[in-house]
Amino acid sequence: MKILTLPTLPGNPQIAYIQTCLHIEQVSATSIAETFDTPTYVYSRAAIEQAAQQYMDAASRSPVRVALRYAVKANSTLAVLQVLARLGWGFDIVSGGELQRVLAAGGEAGKVVFSGVGKTAADMRLALDAGVECFNLESPNELTVLNRVAQEAGKVARVALRVNPDVDAGTHPYISTGLKTNKFGIAQEQAVALALQTALLPHVQLIGIASHIGSQITSVEPYLDALDKVLDLVESLEHKGAQIAHIDLGGGLGIRYNHETPPTPQDWLAPLLARIAARGFGHRTVMVEPGRSIVGNAGVLLTRTLYLKSTPAKHFAVVDAGMNDLIRPALYEAEQVVAPAEVRAAPALKYDIVGPVCESADWLARDRALALE
Ligand SMILES: *Cc1c(COP(=O)(O)O)cnc(C)c1O
Repeated sequence: MKILTLPTLPGNPQIAYIQTCLHIEQVSATSIAETFDTPTYVYSRAAIEQAAQQYMDAASRSPVRVALRYAVKANSTLAVLQVLARLGWGFDIVSGGELQRVLAAGGEAGKVVFSGVGKTAADMRLALDAGVECFNLESPNELTVLNRVAQEAGKVARVALRVNPDVDAGTHPYISTGLKTNKFGIAQEQAVALALQTALLPHVQLIGIASHIGSQITSVEPYLDALDKVLDLVESLEHKGAQIAHIDLGGGLGIRYNHETPPTPQDWLAPLLARIAARGFGHRTVMVEPGRSIVGNAGVLLTRTLYLKSTPAKHFAVVDAGMNDLIRPALYEAEQVVAPAEVRAAPALKYDIVGPVCESADWLARDRALALE
């Protein structure tokens, strides 16, 4: 009998081989492809719920009140949003369209944080009318526009300042957001002036301080560095009479794609909450906005091989999913596991897995040993 080696799947026990066939929660990938055709994304509800539950457990173990807000940009599929809404999560959005998806999925507007450097006046109006809990402000000009839009709507917009703590999260430059050269946040040295300006505007009310330093972060240290700077700012604002009801730590916790060893939500959150309590801010609400760590390991993209093509230089597997379906490899050479739906006892060759789009950036994986036919 020939023994087959199954690929190692780093993510979640809900996505695993049963004998030689890949299954998602006991349903075979092949049967899903036959029913729904390819390319198809498949998500495990149980995997999403388990990831969310880890944050809920970490929050419930702490005396500090934690508000969980799923970052919609990680995956805005309505069914995914619905799972989180049913667990009582709020949402972190960056557009009016994302707000509409959240509401359609049964999310509560009162648990929605509106982030993003490019909010339009129309989207602000939509969010004000829906009654979102907070706008995370990214610039003085945005403050002016929001105050005007709120005035026109006859409302007061609750705002947090998203500060840029200038820390290196040690992640890919395209997903680092907390360096002073990034477009995100308000520089620490400009934040006090901006906070004072909010006090002069009748249609905004400052209620929080936020930061988000990047994504796929695999250690706690950069968060602690950022947190200390955020707490310094909260301290100096409160000396000047502001009342800061919540501190938003953003998201960014990494996941395992290959050999990464990110902290668990508990190991990530516990030291941050302990620092907040130790510095005397334990009676504030702490907001967290995880995205990737909720959904990143909860799904698979099913794709079929259309053609195998060998040139003098390379073996290519041309598949029916492309960079338009999965942008990460093209955008920042991200590596993900490629696993056959059915493992075969045939000699493996090293393939570049490429899509049908007319761009050389249209690849999903490179030099993967696979037995294809
Ligand atoms: C992207 C983003 C998040 C979520 O980051 P993940 O790495 O997906 O956890 C949270 N908050 C803000 C403001 C973001 O831009």
